[in-house]
Amino acid sequence: MNIILIGPPGAGKDTQSDNLVKDFNLYKISTGDLLREEVKKESKLGIKIKSILNQGVLVSDNIINDLIENILSNKDYFNRLIFDGYPRNINQVKHLDSLIKKYDQKISYVLSLKVDKDVIIKRIIGRQICSKCGLTFNEFFNTPMKKNHLCDIKFLKKRSDDNEKTARNRFETYIKETLPVLDHYKNLNLLFEIDGTGHIHVIYKEIRRIIHS
Ligand code: AMP
Repeated sequence: MNIILIGPPGAGKDTQSDNLVKDFNLYKISTGDLLREEVKKESKLGIKIKSILNQGVLVSDNIINDLIENILSNKDYFNRLIFDGYPRNINQVKHLDSLIKKYDQKISYVLSLKVDKDVIIKRIIGRQICSKCGLTFNEFFNTPMKKNHLCDIKFLKKRSDDNEKTARNRFETYIKETLPVLDHYKNLNLLFEIDGTGHIHVIYKEIRRIIHS
């Protein structure tokens, strides 16, 4: 099964897709992660992407769509992909639809995590990611402590786009560009809306319930 996970920035897509990857032997494709990897390389393209990420707007569809085709065409991931952060606008939906047909695959579920703007802003501003183990914490909701995090605190980093101004822009971009994507999948009866404000385990339980039903 291929799954699409949609939600505003900070909705918990990353955490929940990691859970799904483990339990259902899926492969995660996070366009945000792929873009951040390019930024780390400090390539010409990476420098351009960094400035776009810091504005909180979307990177051009051409860059994103090429990244996606590389993965969809790989037989190792056939019908076992979880899309985290893609498609993010109607153009990307059309491109994904054509690739799904081209590689004879299927979208089984589109899961939308719903979280209010105020919670989102706090989640984003407080987000800390350990550069050593990859775990994500939050200064307000899930403080890294000895019992839940073994690495030194010096490894805790913030994403450069996790500040209030960019977070607000990213939320506005989500409303403008990504909400129409939900309507598209609703019309195809593939959309499942999930309350993304509760505890991580409760949200994941609901996701599993949907997949098993
Ligand atoms: P994320 O890690 O999913 O929150 O994405 C971080 C940033 O990467 C977004 O604010 C966008 O600037 C960019 N980005 C990620 N995925 C996409 C996409 N599918 N299309 C365009 N831009 C994207």
